[in-house]
Amino acid sequence: MKWLLFIILGWSFAEATWGWTYHYSNNTMTWYMARKWCQEHFTDMVVIQNQTENDYIVSILPNRTNSPYYWIGLTKEHINETWKWVGNNSTWVGEHSWAENEPNNNHITAFCVEIYINSGQNRGKWNDENCAKNKSPVCYKAQCNDSSCVKGSCWETLNSTACLCTDGYEGDKCQTAVQCPPLPQPSNGNYSCSKEGQIFNSTCHFKCHLGFFMIGSSAVTCAANGHWTGPRPVCTSYKQALLAVAGCGALCSFFCICFCCIRHRKKKKRAQDRLVLHREPEDATSPPSDVNGGTSGNTLTP
Ligand code: CA
Repeated sequence: MKWLLFIILGWSFAEATWGWTYHYSNNTMTWYMARKWCQEHFTDMVVIQNQTENDYIVSILPNRTNSPYYWIGLTKEHINETWKWVGNNSTWVGEHSWAENEPNNNHITAFCVEIYINSGQNRGKWNDENCAKNKSPVCYKAQCNDSSCVKGSCWETLNSTACLCTDGYEGDKCQTAVQCPPLPQPSNGNYSCSKEGQIFNSTCHFKCHLGFFMIGSSAVTCAANGHWTGPRPVCTSYKQALLAVAGCGALCSFFCICFCCIRHRKKKKRAQDRLVLHREPEDATSPPSDVNGGTSGNTLTP
């Protein structure tokens, strides 16, 4: 939705969408004076973030039959620099933003950009120009202000503004801290939290009743992702702990004995196998007995 906002002394009016409002002057001035005029009366010289915004601005500015056209907030200081938008330093340039054969960098020290608003083929296209030339300013007025987003930054585009919340906050205005799941009271203990509601950045400290001691961290904090930084600790009695340790010790001993037995058996079997292997070659090399019970081969007799 757009609507006519106001007329200031006959030389400026604005059309707006939800989000930024756009303003221009019919007076002409250098690029630097144009920016100053925008900053004094509105927020800054217009910043175009995409082709849709470019098309929209073209649609609201009155046609000119020839130069001077309108200054926009795109500039650089040196010929080899990247073009940057005032205010947010973005470097967006559309694939078809420049007019044919532009930017031609015809200027040595001043690099500013005008937008053609006419009925010709280059309507809505950009041209790099000498900043000292006189053209009409196009400005924007931001709708975001300090109270737009409680815990976040306000982001404006055509037809919309939105809050980009910092970690740990949510809601249209980033006004609500992220909440963690409620912590149940531990058995045989209690806890207290630094903030009500167990919300982001709230730290809960646990204590065990007399006769019980704590297993685990004594404090957990609600993180930005809505989860606690660790598990809730457990309060246990010394008697239970001793029984647990004893049980654990017995279990460990049992497994240790089993392990030693198995290892011992394996070791014994390997030793027996080695003994058998050593005996077999001796049997293989011993001479065969003859049929008469003597040894084969020649027998030397005196
Ligand atoms: Ca040019």
